[in-house]
Amino acid sequence: MESGIIFDIQNLSLHDGPGLRTTVFFKGCPLRCLWCANPESQSSQPEMMYYSDKCVHCMACKEVCPTGAVFTRKGCIGCGKCMEVCMYCARKLVGKSMTSDQVMEEIRKDSMLYKESDGGVTFSGGEVLRQPMFLLEIIKQCKHERIHTLLDTTAYCSQEIFNEVLKYIDLVYVDLKCASDSEHKKMTGVSNSNILKNIQFMDKIGKAFEIRMPIIPGYNDSMQILETDIRFIKTLETKPKVWLLPFHAFGKTKYETLGMKWPMGDKKNMDRDELKTIANLFVEYGIDTKIQ
Ligand code: SF4
Ligand code: SF4
Repeated sequence: MESGIIFDIQNLSLHDGPGLRTTVFFKGCPLRCLWCANPESQSSQPEMMYYSDKCVHCMACKEVCPTGAVFTRKGCIGCGKCMEVCMYCARKLVGKSMTSDQVMEEIRKDSMLYKESDGGVTFSGGEVLRQPMFLLEIIKQCKHERIHTLLDTTAYCSQEIFNEVLKYIDLVYVDLKCASDSEHKKMTGVSNSNILKNIQFMDKIGKAFEIRMPIIPGYNDSMQILETDIRFIKTLETKPKVWLLPFHAFGKTKYETLGMKWPMGDKKNMDRDELKTIANLFVEYGIDTKIQ
């Protein structure tokens, strides 16, 4: 049986697809989007989040840590012992190993609600496709049990893996950060070549999918870049719906708890209204566009 690293499972989710859903968050992501709101999802390994504002420096954690990593993080093995002894909730371990059976047990808890609400299970991350064998075991079982499956993905993976996974997925939410490869590299650290090919493949086979575009001021909101995006989307025959997502800085404090630097400086949250001009532009080109 396969096992993988999960960093959260949320029940009764209303915003991760149709109906009531259970959302399973896979840990580990090959992208490093500058605005990432879930930095705890990036590393493939369990990590310790440290909330310095809650810490009273009692040093109970230091006594139990096997590697001396409590304040430096260097050599942390994610054992969670420091969290167990902290009386002030100043430590939280993110990420734990689960078998596919254990994940299915969690998914089945709300199976009656899926039926009543036309809901199901959403696989999100991090990047779910980073753990393909683990994912495949779970989604095959979901198909067997007639549970609706939604893949929330960057589509950054080989075409072989993508094609195999799609066989057991009912609906895909795919990110398109930017259709220009050079700009995509600046924003995420990786090429979009496989991503675009995987989106084109979904389009070719008629898989149900929607595109999510985070709009990051100063990065992908220029007319030149937006026109590149529009040109790419217009080549898709299934005319997928496009959702525009306004930039927000809600994840900033998480970076501090992980000892990481927030890459976006003092950039302010974007208002939904600020996206109307971009949404109107997409609509003018005949793209079904909504603001999230
Ligand atoms: S046990 Fe908790 S409160 Fe005490 S030093 Fe460690 S993190 Fe701070
Ligand atoms: S998770 Fe384990 S290794 Fe890491 S800081 Fe805490 S006690 Fe030390």
